[in-house]
Amino acid sequence: MKILFITSELYPLIKTGGLADVAGSLPQALRDLDNDVRVLLPAYGKIKERLPDAVPVTEMHLLGQPVRVLSTTAPGSEIPLWLLDAPKWFDRPGNPYLQSDGTPWHDNDERFGALCWAGVLLARNQVGLNWQADIVHCNDWQSGLVPALLSPIDERPATVFTIHNLAYQGIFPKSSLSKLELPASLWTPEGLEFHDQLSFIKGGLAYADRINTVSPTYAQEIQTARFGCGLEGLLRHRSDRLSGILNGIDTDKWDPTNDQLIPQNYDAKSLEKKNANKKALQERFGLPAQDKQILMAFIGRLVPQKGVDLILKALPALLKHPFQMVFLGSGSSDYEHSLLYWSRRHPDQIAVHIGYDEALSHLVEAGADMFLMPSKFEPCGLNQMFSQRYGTVPIVHRTGGLADTVEDAIPSQLKAATGISFDLADPGALLEAIKRAWLLYDQPSVWRKLQRSGMAKDFSWHRSAKEYCQLYRQALSDLSPQSSR
Ligand code: ADP
Repeated sequence: MKILFITSELYPLIKTGGLADVAGSLPQALRDLDNDVRVLLPAYGKIKERLPDAVPVTEMHLLGQPVRVLSTTAPGSEIPLWLLDAPKWFDRPGNPYLQSDGTPWHDNDERFGALCWAGVLLARNQVGLNWQADIVHCNDWQSGLVPALLSPIDERPATVFTIHNLAYQGIFPKSSLSKLELPASLWTPEGLEFHDQLSFIKGGLAYADRINTVSPTYAQEIQTARFGCGLEGLLRHRSDRLSGILNGIDTDKWDPTNDQLIPQNYDAKSLEKKNANKKALQERFGLPAQDKQILMAFIGRLVPQKGVDLILKALPALLKHPFQMVFLGSGSSDYEHSLLYWSRRHPDQIAVHIGYDEALSHLVEAGADMFLMPSKFEPCGLNQMFSQRYGTVPIVHRTGGLADTVEDAIPSQLKAATGISFDLADPGALLEAIKRAWLLYDQPSVWRKLQRSGMAKDFSWHRSAKEYCQLYRQALSDLSPQSSR
């Protein structure tokens, strides 16, 4: 299949969240399955500096502006990368969506409206590049208008829209409709209108042939008021076209047998070697290097979504018991201060590193015994997968991707178990889950089994890419005979 993958982020060029990781891995995994994939990304200023070999291949006018398309390959892959070079919109430093004071760029409607128009023209072979897409794969609100713009066209590619974060919707004033040269026919409550405003994400949710999100459980959850961000009605209406596909992880980068960022490599048969990493982690965080002490870990953004408040509320009761815990993260200053407070009060048990440190996150995954991930909601989540790959048993709230990737160690199902899950997002349930994990830890053969079952799981992009190919085929067959190419 010929697939145009449209994204506003791509690891390692530009990243604010999980979309960048997906865009950095999935296209290559699709190519490995013999698909012809092209990626379209805005040529943010920083990116052009990093890809000096990008050459102009075509020009067009978008919203009255002359723009160019530059062609190169995505770093570390063979994937053709098209960069939308529009200095007026994209030659800006820093975050792709926000100014330095944290507020959105004033012209985000034009910037990503232009990206959508470029996607439509490129997918339909209308700018002289001699390539026509079978599938246009759009991601999050920044490319949400593409399915809407393609929908009335008779001969068109099939469209797939992936939700990586439903909370960000691309909402703009009604006046943006004409500014972006959008057909007035799209302005309906069933279309792009959302409470008298223009919603980019609705372009994807209402018009794409297939919609998916990054885990099957989250695909169900977003059809409820609790998780649906006001779009649950539309998502329920389209439930026959909505599914979930788990993200993969980079299994080369996250490989305990070959990880250069940890002091001691190991595999499922040499788990005793993991202890050297535990010792290094304890030393790095200034904790007593005690081999027998249970060492738990948390890595992540310190924001309400990640359930940091649950851990903070459970700490006083936990601290009556011997254990150690390390935190690596940054985010809300309230959470940062609370964690630092506990680490000062209990320096032999709690240690905190505030900041973003990718190398250190490998040592944490390799050195800890257990990994805490009590997220309130979690579209997919990566750390619980890294943890299982490193024999570090995850303790998770049973929601979204956490529910789909961690098999709970209930007594009747220990054979397939890989971690501990709990149902209620409250400190008592978390505490109980941790105590359950501690009891299992005291049974070395059961614990080894849990570790090994987690390490044996397939979290590769290859598995996800096969599911995406299936989704693309469904999207193609959804096209009615008149409109199919
Ligand atoms: P989200 O995308 O909601 O932040 P995920 O679990 O999907 O959560 O992915 C977060 C990614 O960022 C993971 O790779 C995680 O290890 C990494 N990460 C988050 N905070 C830190 C940190 N402080 N230091 C290193 N890596 C971090």
